[in-house]
Order: sequence, then structure tokens, then C-alpha cells
Amino acid sequence: MKNFYAALVLFFVVQASVAQVSPEYNDMKNREIRSMENMFRGGEPINEAMNGLDYDLVYSRLELRVNPDTSIGKYVKGAVTTYFKTRKTNFNQITFDMANALACDSIYYHGAKLATGNYSKVADTIFINVPNIAAIGVLDSVKIFYKGVPPTVAAPWSSTGFYKNGTIGTTSYIHTLSEPYSAYTWWPCKSRVAFDKYDSVDIIVSTPSAFYVAANGVRLGQPVTGSDRLTTWKHRYPISTYQIAIGVARYVQYPATPTLVNIGGTNMELYNLLWSTPNAGSQTALNRTADMLTVMSGKFSDYPFKKEKYGHYTFGFGGGMEHNTMSGMNQSTYATAGTWEVIAHELGHQWWGASVTCGSWSDIWVNESFARYSEVVYLDNKTDASLTVKSEDHRLTFKDDAIAATGGSIYRRDTSNMDKIFNPSVYIYERGAMFVSMLRKTLGDAKFYQALQNYQTDPTLRYSNAFTADVQRHMEAVSGLDLSGMFNDWIYSKGHASYTGARWNNVGNKAVLFLPQTAVSADSTHFDMPIVLRFKRTAPILDTTIVLFDKGRNLYRVNNGVLSSPSGGTLIQVNLSFTPTSVEFDPFAETLAVPNTFTNAGPPVSYTLALITKDPAIGLLATNVVDFTAQKDGKNARLSWSVEHAQDYQSFEVERST
Ligand SMILES: [Zn+2]
Repeated sequence: MKNFYAALVLFFVVQASVAQVSPEYNDMKNREIRSMENMFRGGEPINEAMNGLDYDLVYSRLELRVNPDTSIGKYVKGAVTTYFKTRKTNFNQITFDMANALACDSIYYHGAKLATGNYSKVADTIFINVPNIAAIGVLDSVKIFYKGVPPTVAAPWSSTGFYKNGTIGTTSYIHTLSEPYSAYTWWPCKSRVAFDKYDSVDIIVSTPSAFYVAANGVRLGQPVTGSDRLTTWKHRYPISTYQIAIGVARYVQYPATPTLVNIGGTNMELYNLLWSTPNAGSQTALNRTADMLTVMSGKFSDYPFKKEKYGHYTFGFGGGMEHNTMSGMNQSTYATAGTWEVIAHELGHQWWGASVTCGSWSDIWVNESFARYSEVVYLDNKTDASLTVKSEDHRLTFKDDAIAATGGSIYRRDTSNMDKIFNPSVYIYERGAMFVSMLRKTLGDAKFYQALQNYQTDPTLRYSNAFTADVQRHMEAVSGLDLSGMFNDWIYSKGHASYTGARWNNVGNKAVLFLPQTAVSADSTHFDMPIVLRFKRTAPILDTTIVLFDKGRNLYRVNNGVLSSPSGGTLIQVNLSFTPTSVEFDPFAETLAVPNTFTNAGPPVSYTLALITKDPAIGLLATNVVDFTAQKDGKNARLSWSVEHAQDYQSFEVERST
């Protein structure tokens, strides 16, 4: 048996952490300027991106007539009343994005019909002259009556925008899906500027009585008068234009009496509007949403729309879409008892996307990567035992996809169209989710979830918009770490890390690890990142998992967001409570690093004195100690020795043998 006696550190480098001063983003104007910069950089069409920058959205009331059984194909007719506040002096013209194919019937201002010469349409913009408003911040409103056939969005996104399937009869439906820019295809709005939210909306839809309408907020009523049904939805939370949506079909409500889910003391309704009565498997899948709401409210902060509802409605898009308070879902997403992934993803978006929305499309990862990672959060914390998927297996699919995709970055520099933002999707979904995973391993669970809650409840972000820097700011505030290197390496660069040539060795319970990183990247030479290692013993079976942090080729132990002293290089010694027989690299798929090899370098050449030295050139632990002497000097012992290789060892440890 040997006991740890003393450590004599001969050569020690302290690299101080310098906390980055992150800018505050509590000024909406600054947000807009930055978002505009992003759009200009991304090549956004300037004239369209500019629509609506001189006023703030306050409220819209959509009054629409739609009929999925119409013989003339998809068609919308209605009126949109928009309340706004001016953002510049001498405001005398308001503009909306509005598809060229939609005809403006008339416009009312202060209850009076505007003369036709006071508005005009150019391409997909409507310009409306209003009497001069001298001051900034004046609340005003305008009502546009319009009708037409919403234009089809270009492939492969032709089922977005305002979509009607080809049938007439029991399976006919209409849905809308406006993310990111398609809202203008079916109603006059600020379509292309994501950061300005409506404070609230009302959505009032007339349909034939056979149809029901899904939308945002609380359903106030859906009475039938004659052959028509009038459905009124009220949403009293801020909402981005692209989150406003309707689904129209012969919906069946499940469950007929909404489930009540307790969110921080508020009993909130949970229900679904579905194309058909769900079978037992679908019921299991949909019922699991209650557990997800509880888990995510616990981890992220209360569900952000708890005064209204959550639910799903079936739509024809091939996936899901997280509209505020009610996500549109393809039938396949809840087809069997084991389907859960899209349900968890879209629910996660209620925090990451619906409440806190990306401030520019370049920052779309703050929506998508966190929604993807919400799936992992659910698996890690679920109470529903009927779902047996393990989070590490789910994460491994992220990791494999992200490692295979080396050509793009999480930050989307080109946002000129939907394809450029979302495709290939692996960068903002799986790669981004793995970046979130690495943040969690770096901060530790307690600080990581605290940072998520702080972000979600930050009054400058909640029901508003966030940028990449806001995520970094909250992660750094909780941990005190300087994460600028990690964010720069992973958000803006391509590729991943490889620890090819990694080796380890041990003397008893002391393991030395050699972890040289190679960046597999077109534009980065190193990735700051956590490294997760599991040490195992075969008999009796025992294992422990540790996290290291590689910061600029300097290794640290990291515990709950606290870094140890740096090791001074790519070698580090770890003291365990047992003698390991094997080490696994990233055993739970929590980082974007691969070890092509991680070999045991073999036993040290000499450990007569249990003198541990660290040097990869001579096999990690191997050295010969010569000229060792020990002299008693009163209560002290004077030790001296030489080693046979003339180089600077970074540390020695001396152990007393019993
Ligand atoms: Zn998503």
C-alpha cells in the first residue's frame, strides 16, 4: 500500500482566466442595428429587409375566411388590423410585406376608407400613406382588406407558406408555416424582420362548419352560425411574425377534456387537434407531452405561455413546427407509443425559439440547437418509464452526424434564403446540440441549468430576441469562465477535434494522459473543449468519469465549472481512487472529439521510487532515476535525485512507501 505523501512542483505555469466583458443587449435599437448588419452581410435584399424598420409592431387582428373544400384551390380573404408605434419623427408612410398575388381591396385608417391613391403595391410590399405623425412612439393602426391566392413557396419548401392539399372532402386541409420569411404570402405583416414581435394577436377564422381551426393562444369560441363556423383565438404574449399560424381541417380534439398540467402552480390546458382519433399508441405518445412539460419547466424555467395552453395540431408539413402554444405536427411524429423526438423538440422550442427568438437568422442555432438538445434534457430527466431510449444513444446520433459533416459552421453567414439558413441542417441542429452538450460538460449540470434558466428569465431576452453573445454571456456569468475561445472555435469554425495518438499510463491509481489535439477543420487549428474520460477497473468492477478541459493545448481538470491549475501542456496526471485497467474516451457521446487511438503506453520503465514523471517522448511515465539520496535532518528529510534525461519535467511526485 502506498499513501500520497507530497507533491513537489518544480515547474508551474499559471494561466489566468480573463473574463470577457460581454456587451449588454438590453437596448432594442442596438439589437435591430446588429440584426440589420447581419442581414446586410448575408446579402438580404435591402428594400424588403427594410420594410417596417421605422415602426414597432404592437398588435394584429387577423380576420380570415378560408375553406379547404373550395373548388378554386387555395384562397384567403380577410382583413388584418395592425396597431403600431412610430419609431421616427414625421412618420407618413407605413409599409408591410404582402405578396404581389394578394389584392388589396381597401384600407381603413381611423375608421375612414383611404382613397386608392394613398396606397400602392410594388412587388411584395404595400406602401400606405398616412397623415403625418410628428412624434416618435405614437400608437396608431391601419386595417387592410385583401384577398387572393397565396403564392407557392419555391421547392423544396412548397408545403410552407399557405398550403392546401389537393383533396376536397374528408381529408382536405389548409395549414400555414411561415418560418422564416413566408408570412407575407398569406397576410400583410413584417415578414422578413424576425426581431420585432407583436405584443399580442387575435386570430379569427371563418370556415365551413365541418372545419375546426388551430392557432396560437386561447380559443375563445368556435360557434356555428348557419353553414359557417367562426373560431376566435386570442394570444396575449409577444409573438414573432413567423410563429403566427393556423391549421384548418376536420379536427378531432384529443383528449376531449383537456389535460391539466401544473406549471409552477398554474393549471394549464394541454390538448391536441388531430386529423383523426388517435390509436392507443398515438395516445401514449401525445400523453407523454405532460411529462415533457413538467421536465422542461423544471430545467428551463416555467413553460413561457402557461396562462394559455400547449398542444399539437396535425398538419401536412413533413415534420413539426413550433408555433407559440400549439405546434404543427405531421402524423408520423406521434404515430406510435415510441415516437417522442419531434414532440420533445417542438416543445423545447417554446422556450428556445418561441419565447426567446433568434435575433437574426444567422443566430438560428439559439433556436434549433437548444431545441435539439431539449430532447436530451427530456431523456435525462423523464419520469415516463415507457420510453426506453437512452440519452447517450440519442446523443451519439447527433455526434456521428456532426462529425461526418465538416463543411459548415453553426453560425449561418449567408441567410439570403431558407435553404442557406437551414441546409444542410446538421450544423444548426446536431453540431449545435453537441456544442450545447460541451457547454454542459464544461459548466457541470448545476451551473449549466442555472445559466439556461437565467437566459430564459432574462428580461431583455424573455419574449424577445437573443444572439450568440447572449448565450455566451449567461454561460460565463454563472461559471466565471472565459468561454470566448470555445464559442469562437465551435460557433464560427468548421470541423471537429481529433485526439489521434492519445496515450495513457498509470502507476497504481495515478494515471497520466497524453492528449494531443488535431483540428479536423478547414478554418481552425484548435478547438477549446471538454474531454470526457471514463476509467474502469475489471475486478472488482468500478468506474469513474472525469472531465478535462483543453484550452489552447493546455489541459485542466474541470469540476462543476471550476478549472484546476493548468497542466502546462498536453500531458496531465489524474489521481483516482482505484487502479484503472482501461480508459474510455467520450463514452457517453458528449463532445465533438474522436480518438482514433487511445492506447495504453505500457508500464513505466522504472518506478522503483514511485517517482512519476511526465514525458511523451519516453513513454509517459518512464524514466530512470539515478543518484537518489535521502538524508535525515531533524524532523525533516532532504531528498535529492537526478533523472537521466536532460529536460524540464513539469512536475514530480514523491510517495512514501509503507
Ligand atoms: Zn426545430
